Amino acid sequence: MRIYLAGICQESNTFCPRLTTVGNFKRGLWLQGNEILERLARTNTEIGGALSLLHLHGGVDIVPGMAAWAMASGPLTRATLEVFAAALIGSARNALPLDAAFVSFHGALVAEDEEDCEGFLLEQLGSVLGKGVPIVCTLDYHGVLTRRMLAAADGFVAYRTYPHVDLAETGQRAVRLLFERLSRGKPIPYIYRRLPLILPVDNTETSSGPMADALQILGRLDRLPKVYSWSLLCPHPWLDLSQHGVSVIVYLENPKDTKAEQVIQHLQCFLWENRLAFFQELPDIGSVLDSLPSRLKPIALVDSGDVITAGGTGDSTVILRALLDRRPEASCILPIIDPQTVELAFHVGKGQTSIFHPGGDSGSFSARDPVEAKVCALSNSIVPIRTGAFAGLEGNPGRRAVLCSHHGPTLVVSEFTSPIHDPAFLRSLGLEPEGYELIIQKSHKLFKPGYQNIVRSSLSLNTPGFTDPNIRRLPYLRVPRPIFPLDCDMVWSLR
Ligand SMILES: [Zn+2]
Repeated sequence: MRIYLAGICQESNTFCPRLTTVGNFKRGLWLQGNEILERLARTNTEIGGALSLLHLHGGVDIVPGMAAWAMASGPLTRATLEVFAAALIGSARNALPLDAAFVSFHGALVAEDEEDCEGFLLEQLGSVLGKGVPIVCTLDYHGVLTRRMLAAADGFVAYRTYPHVDLAETGQRAVRLLFERLSRGKPIPYIYRRLPLILPVDNTETSSGPMADALQILGRLDRLPKVYSWSLLCPHPWLDLSQHGVSVIVYLENPKDTKAEQVIQHLQCFLWENRLAFFQELPDIGSVLDSLPSRLKPIALVDSGDVITAGGTGDSTVILRALLDRRPEASCILPIIDPQTVELAFHVGKGQTSIFHPGGDSGSFSARDPVEAKVCALSNSIVPIRTGAFAGLEGNPGRRAVLCSHHGPTLVVSEFTSPIHDPAFLRSLGLEPEGYELIIQKSHKLFKPGYQNIVRSSLSLNTPGFTDPNIRRLPYLRVPRPIFPLDCDMVWSLR
């Protein structure tokens, strides 16, 4: 049996003006053929998990096609989407005949003129594979599952954790669903529901709070016979898409199963009735700095408006400005993305002091202020990812510099956005994260597995940017209306 394996993943952010090109994926991950097996086996990725199961099945011939991954950013250019369509179709066509396909997607891949790239790519792939050849896909918990995607593939399986740590497990669940589909010889029925609800990311962790309760409700499906897979999707808010909204997808033998229907309706009602519990007011940086003496430290502070793993540009200086103004006694380390400052630091040289104007490149949310700092370290090494999502892979932040300011934080300035949520990022520059009392983070939650033994507390800040945590402030035009919290007085009920 020949099973085709592919992946195209990016968490697009439709509010970020920086379009994504092939170059973003080349800096992230761009693998073809056997490179996929060599690089992704034994990694905490969906394909890594799929490989671990497929290798156990005698008689399965794994046919690796292509795998690409890029950091979150603005929508893809049309040309980039065309490149992917050609690469996917080309590698699948060359591998024919195929019996099935496993595709790793995010669910939030958007192009400048195509809001449902996964749906588009699945239709293209299906036309090459031929009728009746099953396709099963993995999705991020923050993805959007559309009607077009559902029509174009046989199964969708999403992460069940946030912070995401079950990427490989999700790949394995998808492979099990694929084998179920193959053994049936026909599509598995499903129940799909979408709620008119956009949730924030801050209080939607899966191990505690209201989302943990929601998943516990859905988990009751595991006790029912012939329920093959369930997933809850909680799309991230920085997507202005016509099918936005929290959704649930359940694959089961009988779509009229009343017990399964009861569980799903219970989940829908629970989410709706508890919708306000997901929304929490975040503090601003000023009030947090004022209350620092009484806070548990080391503390991780999340720059929520400029989260690079959700499409922030990483160059906001809002927190830097506050630190320079207030000069807290606590030692602080702050990452920032700014190729111009990196260039200057390399020009100035290690051990030298100069005036830098870090950040502020995207212009909209932050200004460039002068900072006198010494260049304490320079590097252009690749950074290993040891914990959480993508563990086993490497990040490429490009060249980077450690700037030790005289009256402010230590700055770690990189050329490009990359997965910097693992403490290995700081260690790659000779820095020990344990040595800082304030550690500014540019990921919402991904840093938590790696920093759980380093920080004693963490807090998300109300900061502006392309990942603004205030959903009602975002300039949506296409999301279906009414939808909560944009239409906060709307009424919803089970029909
Ligand atoms: Zn996610």
